Amino acid sequence: MAKGTLTLTMIKPYAVEHGYVGPILARINEAGFRITAMKYLQLSPRQAEAFYEVHRGKPFFERLTKFMCDGPIVAAILEKENAVDDYRSLIGATDPTKAEEGTLRKLFGASIEHNAVHGSDSDENALRESDFFFSQLERF
Ligand code: GDP
Repeated sequence: MAKGTLTLTMIKPYAVEHGYVGPILARINEAGFRITAMKYLQLSPRQAEAFYEVHRGKPFFERLTKFMCDGPIVAAILEKENAVDDYRSLIGATDPTKAEEGTLRKLFGASIEHNAVHGSDSDENALRESDFFFSQLERF
């Protein structure tokens, strides 16, 4: 099978706490993504701020980075043809109230902040975010 492109996802603390890891991973598999790396970890404030560096200075930056440290997350690299765009379609709009029916954020998100999952927004960011979490030895 031809190798696809990559995207980086995080299942955020709210969704982990509510028991949505299994249902979210099942939908990721059903949608044809291959998990090439995965880990369960809790971000430190410094790590969350580094991950979301592009949002520094925005009104929601502090709440976002604090919330992302509230508990463990699942981080994973997903592979598929057209991975970034297809995963953005699977997760839906940033605000769950505006996300389409059946999307991960509609199904499992509570609010624009507690929106269940992250998905990279470009191939360039997918690589940067994958390198943030995973060494080459941790990818399969
Ligand atoms: P994404 O690419 O769809 O995740 O959206 P962004 O990159 O714009 O924002 C990153 C994350 O910040 C989102 O997933 C939300 O958790 C949070 N966020 C974005 N916009 C807002 C906002 O207006 N208010 C709050 N509270 N959080 C936001």
